[in-house]
Amino acid sequence: ISILAIESSCDETSASIIVNGKVLNNIVATQSVHEKYGGVVPELASRAHQENLIPVIQEAILTSGISKDQLSAVAFTRGPGLMGSLLVGVSFAKAFARSLEIPLIDVNHMQAHVLAHFIEDPKPQFPFLCLTVSGGHTQLVLVKDFLDMEVVGETQDDAVGEAFDKTAKLLGLPYPGGPLVDKYAKEGNPKAFQFPITRMPGLNYSFSGIKTAVLYFLRDRLQENPDFISENLADLCASIQYTLIEMLLIKLKEAVKQYGVKEIAIAGGVSANSGLRSTLSDLAKKKGWNLYIPKFEYCTDNAAMIAMAAHYKYLKGEFVGLDVTPLAKMKL
Ligand code: ATP
Ligand code: MG
Ligand code: FE
Repeated sequence: ISILAIESSCDETSASIIVNGKVLNNIVATQSVHEKYGGVVPELASRAHQENLIPVIQEAILTSGISKDQLSAVAFTRGPGLMGSLLVGVSFAKAFARSLEIPLIDVNHMQAHVLAHFIEDPKPQFPFLCLTVSGGHTQLVLVKDFLDMEVVGETQDDAVGEAFDKTAKLLGLPYPGGPLVDKYAKEGNPKAFQFPITRMPGLNYSFSGIKTAVLYFLRDRLQENPDFISENLADLCASIQYTLIEMLLIKLKEAVKQYGVKEIAIAGGVSANSGLRSTLSDLAKKKGWNLYIPKFEYCTDNAAMIAMAAHYKYLKGEFVGLDVTPLAKMKL
């Protein structure tokens, strides 16, 4: 079984070839055009996908060592994501599948983030809890099988990645600010400043409050000292990061209690955060959890995870017709 998988849900154009469940490559073109706007501009993202898609796919096929005639199926991200971006990948996938006369497989991007754990060893055992933390989502997922997962808690407003990026913007850091907050936080004191921990009912999250809290906090401090941010950048980053990690882990601990699962995984772009990784590793040791964190390149948006999901769907014969349309708000 050889599958070409395409990811184009947001601002990464990516292609991957998987053969018999083994990912052969993962080609990613990241769009830099959004930096100067401080966030992803959907219209520009679609155009960049249109430019990058063919070269990225060509490279994936070339470096895989297999020819396009050997492909068994074409897979694509159907959603959730930006409609214009998704349309570029879906349209290409349809045309390519049609021309090769092979089946088409639609993949849910959030399901794929979870299945990134099956690209390489060690792989979690079912059932496991996956904390999916990205630029658009924050979900606690109970994973019962490869294609059987349930969202047991999620953010009611902003995603945690968004909270990282938006607070970073308030600190004057360029987009995406998440990795920079991580970098400066390493030299800062996480207890230097206190920001409120928002507690939602059940296993749900809310990350919109911290943005406002940081905004008002900075406004007051900057009035007293215009250099407040530059003089305290590391402490600010460390304190914001600490608060966000606390909020993530409070609910994770509750979910573990509720479901009695000790296999714990994290997925999504924010799982690259070094503070989250180390705090979670310590917690796992203390609690006796088995913790799974994918390689960095499989945490952020990539087609290898789409390929992994497509492989399991192929085994179950789950294909879609050429009339399939993208779903910007596709549910897990
Ligand atoms: P979704 O998957 O929900 O559609 P997305 O595709 O934008 O959203 P990803 O590409 O998985 O999300 O992750 C990007 C997010 O991860 C951004 O918000 C970015 O700031 C954040 N991020 C990446 N690295 C780090 C880091 N080291 N620390 C904190 N945040 C990070
Ligand atoms: Mg992205
Ligand atoms: Fe993503």
